[in-house]
Amino acid sequence: MIDEENENLTTEQDEHIPAEPTAENEADEAKEAEESTSTLTFEDFKLNRQLLNAIAELGYEKPTPVQQQTIPLALAGHDVMGIAQTGTGKTAAYVLPLLMKVKYAQGKHPRALILAPTRELVLQIEENIQKFSAYLDLRTVGIYGGVGPKSQIERIQAGIDILVATPGRLMDIYRKGELVLKELKTLVLDEADKMMDMGFMPQIRQILEIIPRKRQNLLFSATMHERVHTLSEEFLEFPMVVEVTPQATPVETVSQVLYQVPNLRTKIALLEYLFQDKETFNRVMIFTRSKTNADNVSSFLDRKGEGGVRVVHGNKGQNTRINAVDAFREGEVRYLVATDVASRGIDIVDVSHVINFDVPIIYEDYVHRIGRTGRAEKTGASITFANEAEMHHIHRIEKLIKMQIPQEPLPAEVQVYDTPFDEQQAIARELDDQKRRENPDFKGAFHEKKSRAPRENIGKGAKVRDAKKAGWKKTKSGGASKRKSGRR
Ligand code: AMP
Repeated sequence: MIDEENENLTTEQDEHIPAEPTAENEADEAKEAEESTSTLTFEDFKLNRQLLNAIAELGYEKPTPVQQQTIPLALAGHDVMGIAQTGTGKTAAYVLPLLMKVKYAQGKHPRALILAPTRELVLQIEENIQKFSAYLDLRTVGIYGGVGPKSQIERIQAGIDILVATPGRLMDIYRKGELVLKELKTLVLDEADKMMDMGFMPQIRQILEIIPRKRQNLLFSATMHERVHTLSEEFLEFPMVVEVTPQATPVETVSQVLYQVPNLRTKIALLEYLFQDKETFNRVMIFTRSKTNADNVSSFLDRKGEGGVRVVHGNKGQNTRINAVDAFREGEVRYLVATDVASRGIDIVDVSHVINFDVPIIYEDYVHRIGRTGRAEKTGASITFANEAEMHHIHRIEKLIKMQIPQEPLPAEVQVYDTPFDEQQAIARELDDQKRRENPDFKGAFHEKKSRAPRENIGKGAKVRDAKKAGWKKTKSGGASKRKSGRR
């Protein structure tokens, strides 16, 4: 299925590990822009009474910076390119002007289309629209893959005003002849960078071919990757650019801590130690690099039986994932374990902690992950566990976010386990890979060993001796998460 999110896209993702930040004054400029608009209220936008009432009921006191800058431009009919990460209020920034434009139910075919990369995000946007349009008579439908199209088609046939869709499912239904797009007046691309990462460019191009040329376009992206820039050139007309947070800046309300943890087993021990404090760690998102680690962490927490756990990753069925996120959002469970792709865009307010059980290798995911806490001006905390190989990634992340993540020693109560041989090997391989990235001529210890050792005669003892010769330390080298071979 085309719009299934795909965690095997890691090779492609690896290709654009972000360049080191260059612009020195980004932060200052963003701050200035924020300050100049900080006194605006929702009333100032001249939104209609129905919208203002819905906003008041949601408890929003004032527009966030991205809303302050985007809403007037979008209301004036401009194409807008918004660089804003999730957690900044970007959804309302485009939904509110959109609702002012669409206003009330009319005709049968959608007049606005919002494209988003994942089912979770589609559902979340749909939910946001429902909330804001509580006092408007509007029909919004979300369509996405992973479930049969029948009920989605039925909803479309009943007549709609706003369509929220993943690109693949949109094209599927369009090709069946069940969707008329000629009434579209507005197109929104949300998380455009993610859509590029997930390989949706061909579908997006097809969609641009079949929708009216004369329309307003709004594009939102957490980052300004080269490809997003290219896309914006293709489909925006004289866009106004709104950039509220400099690229890859962690939300300021999040405190960050880093622990160096040698291996998986010790990471689990540290989790166990931290989670003893149930009051502090009351709603925790735990991020892992792989589905395997996500499953392992979740079954560990499940066995401990401390307040419930759910897991979301690419192998989980659609309903399981929606239910998991709902259960976590409603506070029925204390932990949500997630991989990066599965978690993107999930909006959960009041997350007490984000735990980076593994360090993300797409460095910007660090910012996305910790943006799950400290949302909407609440404070939050992020705790990162890193083994020796992952520390290498941490240094790169620190360059990207232009700050050092404060480190703390492992608490004395946490038992430090020896690193099993396989894990040591994985770590050595990862370290070699990283060094080779920096210096293509580098010949790693791991590969030297491999070329020298006659395979058939190697018993376990010989392997350990070789490992020692290659300079691996037994306990300190840290535990790599299980990795898919396609990752590098
Ligand atoms: P978003 O970046 O669109 O995912 O929004 C992040 C969170 O901030 C969501 O939970 C929104 O409901 C919330 N939010 C959006 N705008 C505001 C606002 N003006 N005041 C308070 N919370 C907001």
